[in-house]
Amino acid sequence: ESRRLAESVLSGLRVVRKALHEAEAELGEIDAVAGDGDHGRGMVRGIDAAVAGAETACEAGAGAGDCLAAAGDEWAARAGGTSGVLWGAGLRAAGEVIGAESGTIDAFAAVTAFADRIISLGGAEPGDKTLVDALVPFRERLAAGSWSSAAETAEQAARRTADLVPRKGRARPLAERSVGTPDPGAVSLALIARAIGEFSRG
Ligand code: ADP
Ligand code: MG
Ligand code: MG
Repeated sequence: ESRRLAESVLSGLRVVRKALHEAEAELGEIDAVAGDGDHGRGMVRGIDAAVAGAETACEAGAGAGDCLAAAGDEWAARAGGTSGVLWGAGLRAAGEVIGAESGTIDAFAAVTAFADRIISLGGAEPGDKTLVDALVPFRERLAAGSWSSAAETAEQAARRTADLVPRKGRARPLAERSVGTPDPGAVSLALIARAIGEFSRG
């Protein structure tokens, strides 16, 4: 049973890897509008390292939570960029919550740990035009609804960041140029949420 859970974490990470590889160019283009254009590359480097880290941990017999925490550590170490540090730390926090459980994964608890860690580490608030603008509505919707409906909420929220002026991160110096384009980190978060939703529906 615990092997099955660890294997499903690994499968989920591979699904995210495929989605990020497909979106790499688009994420880079969005980030190039007011940022430095490396968001697609960074997310791909991060997920590639995360899958490798989770594979190593899983093969060594680690449980689901430890596999996810290992994925986070590798993501943080290899992705580079602000998003890499945040995604890595967030996945480790989610893994630590899952690690303490038995049988099934409490998705809301895992997402809450992920969000809390990213918010405390990055210091961004809703409206700053970061991935937090997709993550907070995602978590809120997940508290009351299905993963798929929460992923839809995240996509809408990510699209709405186009109206915002960035107050955090590398896009700030060229803030005005960013208006009309969504935040790359919010877009990638939403697409990851969707990929996981499609995977878990089977
Ligand atoms: P970098 O900006 O270092 O080149 P990326 O391009 O990979 O890194 O990631 C940029 C994304 O990181 C932004 O679109 C935003 O969503 C997110 N981000 C930047 N700063 C913060 C922060 N303080 N808190 C949360 N997310 C942030
Ligand atoms: Mg960038
Ligand atoms: Mg960069």
